[in-house]
Amino acid sequence: MRRATQYDAIVVGSGMTGGWAAKELCEHGLNTLVLEAGRPIDPNKDYVEHVPEYQVHFRGYGDRKALERDQPMQKDCYACDEWSGKFFVNDRENPYTFPDDKPFRWIRGRQVGGRSIMWGRQVYRWSDLDFEANAKEAIGIEWPIRYADIAPWYDHVERFIGVSGQAEGLPQLPDGQFLPPMAMSCVEQRARENILKAFGGERVMTIGRAAILTQNHNGRAACHYCGHCERGCITLSYFSSINATLPAAQKTGKLTLRPFSVVESVLYDPKGDRARGVRVIDANTNESLEFEGRVVFLCASAIESARLLLNSKSDRFPNGMANDSDQVGRNVMDHPFFAGAHGEMPGFLDKTTFGNRPNGIYVARFRNVKTKHPDFVRGYGFQGGAGRSGWDRGEWTPGFGADFKRSLISDLGPWGLGINAWGEMLPNPENRVTLDSQVKDKWGIPAAHIVCSLGENELAMHRDMQITAAELLAAAGAKDIQTYTSPILPGLCIHEMGTARMGHDPKTSVLNAHNQAHSVKNLFITDGACMASSANQNPSITYMALTARAASYAVERLKKREI
Ligand SMILES: Cc1cc2nc3c(=O)[nH]c(=O)nc-3n(C[C@H](O)[C@H](O)[C@H](O)COP(=O)(O)OP(=O)(O)OC[C@H]3O[C@@H](n4cnc5c(N)ncnc54)[C@H](O)[C@@H]3O)c2cc1C
Ligand code: SF4
Repeated sequence: MRRATQYDAIVVGSGMTGGWAAKELCEHGLNTLVLEAGRPIDPNKDYVEHVPEYQVHFRGYGDRKALERDQPMQKDCYACDEWSGKFFVNDRENPYTFPDDKPFRWIRGRQVGGRSIMWGRQVYRWSDLDFEANAKEAIGIEWPIRYADIAPWYDHVERFIGVSGQAEGLPQLPDGQFLPPMAMSCVEQRARENILKAFGGERVMTIGRAAILTQNHNGRAACHYCGHCERGCITLSYFSSINATLPAAQKTGKLTLRPFSVVESVLYDPKGDRARGVRVIDANTNESLEFEGRVVFLCASAIESARLLLNSKSDRFPNGMANDSDQVGRNVMDHPFFAGAHGEMPGFLDKTTFGNRPNGIYVARFRNVKTKHPDFVRGYGFQGGAGRSGWDRGEWTPGFGADFKRSLISDLGPWGLGINAWGEMLPNPENRVTLDSQVKDKWGIPAAHIVCSLGENELAMHRDMQITAAELLAAAGAKDIQTYTSPILPGLCIHEMGTARMGHDPKTSVLNAHNQAHSVKNLFITDGACMASSANQNPSITYMALTARAASYAVERLKKREI
């Protein structure tokens, strides 16, 4: 085994949170090594957002045989298509297991940038309704922070990444440092007004808050509404670690980025009672290497970071590093979704939309905000949008023959409005990641075994989502409203979190209020693993804010030689 250089900081993963850790640590002057399991990305070759269907081999449908063989799990994600499939992992090389009766979809990216390349860019702050809920309802454990602790870090992150959105003054969905909002369509605007009137301001439909630039910002260009962001963005108009944080880290001259570096375990130094560094397998040569650092940040994503901790055994930590509480791997949460409604919005036939706005509308949580719901705690928000149907409405519109076909292409169909809910999942210690004793990945590292299912609260909430979706559309003025729900596959919302939670008490949590492991003071875990509850908002902006906050704290402690 070859011994490598000593760094000030080691960051595992270069995705959404790894990019933030790298930027902040480098900007504080730390020589930082970022270890990324996957390949490097070259935007000039890899970004394909402007490539039309007729230029891809399977006209956008993808090679179904290859998908079945190599990406049987990833293909269930809407974004894993012929263009973006290359940004999703190969499931054969990166297997995981689950019980037959508890299927789980673990959707992953394994390249420089991680899933920040393909993400949906929706960003919503949490509020004290979320941070206080566990303590008030005696569910899980109390969050060790409140909104006031993270608010300045939301500001910090938003100012850098650029978030377009509309301030609404809602206590349950705090406003941020917004760039100008994208415009709502005339139909969405009408729906918003009708809903506000019908529910006396209790239910609010706003434009989606998105990490997409509506004006030039920090050297990145405003979005030109081409619309397929999950394929990359050559104008750097949406936030990803490749487009923004990694270049900022690089600019300091303090960053060493090492792709093809699969971190196998975190090394423990019993003398110093600290993390010494990490053991890495070079993905190309299979060579085993060690890297040392004064501080280690795990940003490999919630399930990967738990897997890494569980695989880091020593005499001091026989059940995995920082796992004195036996909480590493427990409390996996995702957001129950895929329940909602759609309907036709009459009128506005002289109006249409221009370009492909890469954003929709959002209905802020209204359940259990002012009044208590009898069947469930917590709540959900809706995402969706309005648009006019095109020629493909021929699929469901009655008619046949040449005149019918001509009518489909000579005119647009009616306006439709659809909304889909994203709900909160409660922490449950039985929803758990462990190491599979049989299955290993391509590099010989034990695979994750994931046991995760929804509880009664989530199922009750799911039933309610369809009902209120229909109410909202009716209030908006829609007709022919159809509700839908589908069997819920945990993981498919791609918001997995909770596997190394923050808390006050080392007996019941893995991390303290600064994402620092209670029992290994120079180890920080700042991806979704740290979450003590899931709220219902898309979580990545909260991970980013916590990462920046933790980096600042780690630097202070390093300066004072406390870690
Ligand atoms: C299609 C899609 C849409 C989404 N939409 C939204 C949205 O609208 N809003 C939102 O908030 N979130 C969204 N998400 C979720 C969001 O992408 C994740 O929450 C976020 O990327 C998590 O950040 P992370 O840093 O923890 O993980 P990632 O961004 O996944 O990065 C982890 C990185 O660590 C690397 N890694 C893993 N294991 C190792 C190892 N052992 N050694 C070295 N490197 C390792 C991986 O290769 C990867 O590059 C979406 C995700 C997808 C796929
Ligand atoms: S729609 Fe905007 S953010 Fe998305 S890829 Fe196109 S220019 Fe970039």
